[in-house]
Amino acid sequence: SYRKGGYHAVRVGDQFAGGRYIAQGKLGWGQFSTVWLAYDTQSSNYVALKIQKSASQFAQAALHEIEVLSSIANGDPSNSKCVVRLIDHFKHAGPNGHHHCMVLEFLGDSLLRLIRHSRYKGLELNKVREICKCILIGLDYLHRELCLIHNDLKPENILLYSTIDPAKDPIRSGLTPILQRPEGSLNGGSTMNIIEKKLKRRAKRAVAKISERRASMGGATEKPKKCLDGVDVRCKVVDFGNACWADKQFAEEIQTRQYRAPEVILRSGYSFSVDMWSFACTAFELATGDMMFAPKGGQGFSEDEDHLALMMELLGKMPRKIAVGGARSKDFFDRYGDLKRIRRLKFWPLDRLLVDKYKFSENEAREFAEFLCPLLDFIPEKRPTAQQCLQHPWLNLRTSAQIEMKKGDIEKLHVGMSNLQLKVGK
Ligand code: ATP
Ligand code: MG
Ligand code: MG
Repeated sequence: SYRKGGYHAVRVGDQFAGGRYIAQGKLGWGQFSTVWLAYDTQSSNYVALKIQKSASQFAQAALHEIEVLSSIANGDPSNSKCVVRLIDHFKHAGPNGHHHCMVLEFLGDSLLRLIRHSRYKGLELNKVREICKCILIGLDYLHRELCLIHNDLKPENILLYSTIDPAKDPIRSGLTPILQRPEGSLNGGSTMNIIEKKLKRRAKRAVAKISERRASMGGATEKPKKCLDGVDVRCKVVDFGNACWADKQFAEEIQTRQYRAPEVILRSGYSFSVDMWSFACTAFELATGDMMFAPKGGQGFSEDEDHLALMMELLGKMPRKIAVGGARSKDFFDRYGDLKRIRRLKFWPLDRLLVDKYKFSENEAREFAEFLCPLLDFIPEKRPTAQQCLQHPWLNLRTSAQIEMKKGDIEKLHVGMSNLQLKVGK
């Protein structure tokens, strides 16, 4: 893809926008772009530089993304709405053409990496709650204030960040990207500045300390659900390449397969509630480590039909009106609202699945299912909005383990106090 119309090849130390930004290392890439860590000499901050492929369709997509990101930034001057911030944009001329570049605030690893880090066992429920709150704040802002639909919400498009300055507190900021990247991947080369070097050295020490701490806990691999203990987990929604204004939709097929809402498969029209569906799929994946729906085509049925079958096995039968109401309904359903090719469904309701397969306690399963199920209503209009969802009691629940811990803390406090009294008495 590094040819005319494709990616722009970058080397560490390359300068952009007349020398303002200096490339430090590659952060990631997508179908449209490569993303680089860059040093902003004007603000003395690290930024993420997204360099789009140059062909006209990519350039057009970049202009759209810049327009969306600009309105996001304009509507959130205090940068508190859990959505990535656009700092600057410009065009860069290279051997492969002219590339639109977006300068974004520098964020950390994606939730997908976090799930991988848990060895696909899922995160502790309190962490899931914190992450869910952030995503919902972001969605509420996009939906209610900007009338934007994200259209591609999934763990990969939600990035962690730390509010703790890694230079000041490398341990607690243990989730900033610099600390997470393998040694050498941010090799700064000759133009690497002193701050970067210092940061790297501290990062190395921090990584060592974190591994020490994990080892003393019996190893991160043994107790994956604990590996984020004590870290203030925050995240932001990114990747607005597919976002659209609710009244200006341009694509019928939206969303990444596994996070796609039923009305998109059926071509019944869509709105903000498609993001709520994807949100529920994401929350489930965070808590269990598994995708909620992972359809595949088989003999005599398509991936779409399998997807609909999986949905109904988990959520019950789709109301007939909804099933037969889409432009593509006839491809999948007969006139009674039964699937044409997949006749026998094995129902496994969400709360039972959480208990039987994922070993949730009865309580945890019931509470989590009560949070998720309304978001997975087959009738899109019935799904709660992000604003309503933010009011849900599940988001403020504490797990019994946490209550236990609190009790333990109080006991420790008592012991500490009586020791103190002894000392004072002496
Ligand atoms: P896609 O094919 O998913 O549409 P894309 O070309 O639009 O990809 P993004 O998804 O925006 O690109 O970014 C690609 C990757 O770069 C992300 O998955 C992430 O790893 C990294 N990345 C993007 N933005 C940032 C950021 N602000 N801070 C740190 N890393 C980032
Ligand atoms: Mg992406
Ligand atoms: Mg994109």
